[in-house]
Amino acid sequence: MVNIKENTGAVRAKIEEAAKKAGRCASEIKLMGVSKFHPFEAMREAAQYVDLLGENRVQEAVSKRLFWKESPFDAPWHLIGQLQKNKARRALETFDLIESVDSFELASLLNRILEETGRKFPVYLEINMSHDENKSGAEAENALEMLEKIMENCPRLSVEGLMTMAPLNGDERAVRRAFAGLRTLAEGLRTRSGLQLPVLSMGMSGDFEYAIEEGSTLVRVGTAIFGEREY
Ligand SMILES: *Cc1c(COP(=O)(O)O)cnc(C)c1O
Repeated sequence: MVNIKENTGAVRAKIEEAAKKAGRCASEIKLMGVSKFHPFEAMREAAQYVDLLGENRVQEAVSKRLFWKESPFDAPWHLIGQLQKNKARRALETFDLIESVDSFELASLLNRILEETGRKFPVYLEINMSHDENKSGAEAENALEMLEKIMENCPRLSVEGLMTMAPLNGDERAVRRAFAGLRTLAEGLRTRSGLQLPVLSMGMSGDFEYAIEEGSTLVRVGTAIFGEREY
């Protein structure tokens, strides 16, 4: 049996340790429980122990939302998977924040939908730091241009951070290079744009300790909390 409480405690302890090693304060680092492919009950239990929850697919989130309505909990809910244009409206209705904005086109579409109600919505830009062809995310060299276009044309979006995934089977050096690259990119974007971009969303079950040492402020952990996914 998977023990979500114990698992989350163990992840928190590792976060603490990695933060200490990097001379950081663990309270700067938020823990997201990634509940994709796990049932609503598991997600509800984890919500007591994590700071946020994350899902990959809009459809799955929409069906979980039906249960959620009946048992409200406080953890903010982020979309972390690739967003198809035809699901943009549902995503805005379902989530509190979208981490996977990877093009100006997607940002404009979200902005257009938000204009209907005048609502503002927080997003992160997803950047591909591993030059992996099957990975999602905008190329780092296009990030500044994308950010500037969003700032100029998408007043309903507030860009609050960057998100990335390290190469999945990368060795330690490659993984750290990806994370350090995102941190450096964020520094450059802050200077050029004047935005604060406080959040660096990076690190998963297999690499969150490296991510913390390289400056992560939000780790997205699925397997280490919920156990293996059954697809
Ligand atoms: C699934 C997923 C995670 C969590 O992965 P684990 O290895 O199970 O911790 C984090 N981020 C994204 C974008 C994901 O798709």
